[in-house]
Amino acid sequence: MANSIKERVQEILSQLPAGVELEAAAKSRQPFEIIEAIEAGIKIVGENYVQEAERAYREIGQRCRWHMIGHLQKNKAKKAVEIFDLIETLDSLELALEIDKRAAAQGKVMSVLIEVNSGREPQKAGVFPEDVEGLIRSVSGLKNIRILGLMTMGPLEGSPEDFIPYFRETRRIFEHLKTLNIQNVEMQILSMGMTASWRVAIEEGANLVRIGTGIFGPRHQDV
Ligand SMILES: *Cc1c(COP(=O)(O)O)cnc(C)c1O
Repeated sequence: MANSIKERVQEILSQLPAGVELEAAAKSRQPFEIIEAIEAGIKIVGENYVQEAERAYREIGQRCRWHMIGHLQKNKAKKAVEIFDLIETLDSLELALEIDKRAAAQGKVMSVLIEVNSGREPQKAGVFPEDVEGLIRSVSGLKNIRILGLMTMGPLEGSPEDFIPYFRETRRIFEHLKTLNIQNVEMQILSMGMTASWRVAIEEGANLVRIGTGIFGPRHQDV
């Protein structure tokens, strides 16, 4: 692994096929580290916690686009709508109603991805594959939300090949949803792949990869 944030960002960017965007997953990183990544070419920063995002946003502002990639609590929806350009983790109608209400109050149409629990693991965030279409049909009636695609994590452990079935399943749902032409729904973004799995994710159709340790190095404290 290259030994600076700048070198690692440039190395990954040089390997990305056209049409695939790189997002720096910045949980537990300091604003100065995020700025270093932006100066090396990062245009999208993913945050897991609204409070952490707020702190970073105050220093960095609009020098990048901000994505929410952690589980969003309803009581943080107002702040999230203020800060983020895309919420990648919508996984319930309840949360959608709250986001819609907050976005309406701010005169904003909030772009979201639906998080798919592609491993069907009960303790994990996201919607089971068989429930994605139903949720999307319900959310599509909300005027201040626009659904732009799907996000998935897949299993936390394993070799890159172990991710393939989960990515493939999410891609299949993505392609199916495209054919349905639901109003307010544009299947444009397929967010899959992290440090260990981004290459196979791209092979399976991802056009947004979220990389943390591969950019910033090992995390000091796990959060
Ligand atoms: C931390 C995180 C990533 C990046 O994980 P790495 O293995 O550090 O690349 C991607 N997506 C989400 C949702 C994360 O929380």
